[in-house]
This record gives sequence, C-alpha cells and structure tokens, in this order.
Amino acid sequence: MNLTERDLQVIWHPYTQMKTAQPPIGIVRGEGALLFDEEGKQYIDAVSSWWVNIHGHAHPYIAKKVSEQLHKLEHVIFAGFTHEGAVELAERLLAILPANQKKAFYSDNGSTAVEVAIKMCLQYWLNKGDQRTKIIAFNNAYHGDTFGAMAVSGRSAFTKAFDSLLFEVEFIDIPNKENIESLKSQISDLKSQTACFIFEPLIQGSAGMIMYEAEYLNELMAHCRQEEVMLIADEVFTGFGRTGKPFATNHVQVEPDIMCFSKGLTGGTMALGLTTCTQQIYDAFLSDDKLKTLFHGHSFTANPIACASALASLDLFQQPETAENIDRIKAAHKVFADRIRNHPKVKTIRQTGTIVAMEWETGDNTSYFSSLRDKLYHYFLTAGIILRPLGNVIYILPPYCITNEQLNYVYSKIEQALEEL
Ligand SMILES: *Cc1c(COP(=O)(O)O)cnc(C)c1O
Repeated sequence: MNLTERDLQVIWHPYTQMKTAQPPIGIVRGEGALLFDEEGKQYIDAVSSWWVNIHGHAHPYIAKKVSEQLHKLEHVIFAGFTHEGAVELAERLLAILPANQKKAFYSDNGSTAVEVAIKMCLQYWLNKGDQRTKIIAFNNAYHGDTFGAMAVSGRSAFTKAFDSLLFEVEFIDIPNKENIESLKSQISDLKSQTACFIFEPLIQGSAGMIMYEAEYLNELMAHCRQEEVMLIADEVFTGFGRTGKPFATNHVQVEPDIMCFSKGLTGGTMALGLTTCTQQIYDAFLSDDKLKTLFHGHSFTANPIACASALASLDLFQQPETAENIDRIKAAHKVFADRIRNHPKVKTIRQTGTIVAMEWETGDNTSYFSSLRDKLYHYFLTAGIILRPLGNVIYILPPYCITNEQLNYVYSKIEQALEEL
C-alpha cells in the first residue's frame, strides 16, 4: 500500500469532510518552495503550507540548528527551569517588537497564544479588582480553534456546532472612513465592562483575506487606549514579514498591550506559540497572593527544539536577502494584480505585502463551500500548484524564497484558469 492508502485506514484530517474529500497526497520531501509526492510529482507550495513556511521547506540552516539542539537538550520542564534558546529568543524578539513589549510567555500554537492573551487580559482586570469581562472582536475574525479562541472568532460554519457554548463577545465591523466614528462610540458605550479588544491587524486571513487600512486601525487602537480597553494584536498570521514589514503593527503608531505569534515564528518548522505583553500587565500578576498567578502552561511550553528553529528562522529573517525577497514578491504581485484587475471574472483583487487575493466573480454563490472552490483547488493541484481557495477567494502567499519563475508559473496558471473555468 502507498502512503495515501495507509492514511485512509487510520487518519482523520483537519478541516476535511472525510466522506467526500479526495484522498490525501503523500508528501515525501520538500525543498525551497517545492514539495514532492510519493510518485515524484512536484508542487509549488503557494500557500506556505497553511501560512507557516517563510524560508522554504527543509531549509538546510534551520535543519542544522535544530539537529545541533537535538543533541544538546530536547526538552525540559519550563516551570522552575529555563534554557538558552527560550531566553535568547525572547531577548531577540522583544528587541524588534514595539518598544512596550517586555515579557514573553510561550505556548504551543496560534490558538494557545490567543488563549493566553485572553486569560492575561481578563485576569489583569480581576487582579486589579476591576472585574471587566467583556471582549470586543471584529466580525468575521479568526483567532483559532480552541474554545476561547473560537469564542472571540466570528460565528461561522466553523463554530456552528458549538455556538451555544461560546462565551458572549461584542462584535464590531472592521474600520473604514465611513464607520470609524460609530465604531468609536460603540467602544465608548462598552468601556466600563470591557477587558480587551482582539484583532487581526490589517488582514483577516481565514475570512477570505479581507484587508483594511492601517490608518483606521490606528485610530481605533488610539481610541481603545484612551478608553483603557486593552489591545491584543493577533499577529499569528501577519507576523514575520507577511505584510511587507516585520510585523503588521509596524504599520500603525499605537502599540498593542499584548501580541500573539505562531505560524512563521519557527519558519514553519516546529509548532510554537508566543504571547508578549507590557510591563503593566505583567506587574498586575505580581503578588504575595498566589491566586494572582497566571495558571496556564503546556507540557511542551518553550520546547528547546522549537526555540532553536525559531532562532534559526530569525537569523534568516534578519538577512538582507529576506527583505529583498519580500520586496520582490510585493512588486511581482502588484504587476500581476494590475494585469488581471479588469478581467470580467475578477470581482476584486487586493494585496497587502506578500499576500495577493482575488475574488472570483460567481454571481451570488460566494460561500466557503462553493463548488467552484473544489474545482479550482483540483485544477491547480493538477498543474502542480498548491492553492487552497477560501470559497471563491484565491490567494497566493508564498515562502519568501519562491523564485520568479515559480511565481510566474503560478500567475500564468491562475490566468489560464480565468479563461478555462
Ligand atoms: C492560524 C491562526 C490562528 C490559530 O493558529 P493555530 O496555530 O492554527 O492554532 C490564530 N490567529 C490567526 C490570525 C490565525 O491566522
């Protein structure tokens, strides 16, 4: 039996209707932006393996650093103990994050980074004796799949089975020129009960790469700061260069109180979550009263192998070549977007940094479950490209090492699809 056949006997896949899905493709090797299946067919990973990969697959430098770490220390309990990788990673990241970020709390993935952020905020207010329990989030937000992260995410097909069990959240629209004043007054109305406002800065990824302007986010953040509503920037997706700057919050002037990271943090090599916060939040947990402790931790908190891959990825991220690659992809996306913008099947096309997203004109059927989605997905797979449309939205979000030739091939296949489908 090949990998696919063995898989079907024993595996249940994420976000997959196992009854109707095509059998999974067995991948045996990766190199740069390419993945190779067990028959030797190659695929361009144009979605960075669910948005995590930034320097390419099986990167030799990351592999070397991870391998060295494996021979030194694979894991150690992180309560009562520490290790070089965790300390160095926190030092180096805090040095490049907004200046008010002072402490780093590790976890395992993006959802747990969000859980930690929410708990920090709620307990911050409790510890201060001001019990604020309301949370504000954006409509259509996505912050992860664990219960707290689901609760602060927009209610959707993803959450439907659990909606009645999710805690109540105040959802507001993403800001624009027209609605900014009304959003500000909504926040003011809620301020006395509100612990925090959580948001995906500039791009709502899972919602279909919905983009909004830094100017209005900044204005909203400034207003929250004035009303003492804590700001949680969920940079799980946007962190590490995706938006063209190292972090999406580099596009705004107001500094968030808390930031969440995962996905690109390790270059896409290992699962690792990170939540950073201000001194003010950290200090609210310092007490002789043990009940003011942040009672949260995971078995693999700050795993040394994950920290080693994050440090190696950061080394690569800080090389000038990476910034050049990001600029190169940005420029190429722009030319592509301008070229197809007026095609009758292109409803809209938008870009932020290394992410370009086009909405396919489908008349009225725009849902995540649109049949066009499956048709497109398989069309590109056959062409040797991994693109996973969100409903009728096709997006390209490549590892920064993708070559111009590979990128042009992806563009040309999308243009061909526009003619053929
Ligand atoms: C993917 C994502 C998460 C969840 O991260 P996981 O590692 O998949 O749990 C949270 N927030 C945002 C913005 C994301 O894109």
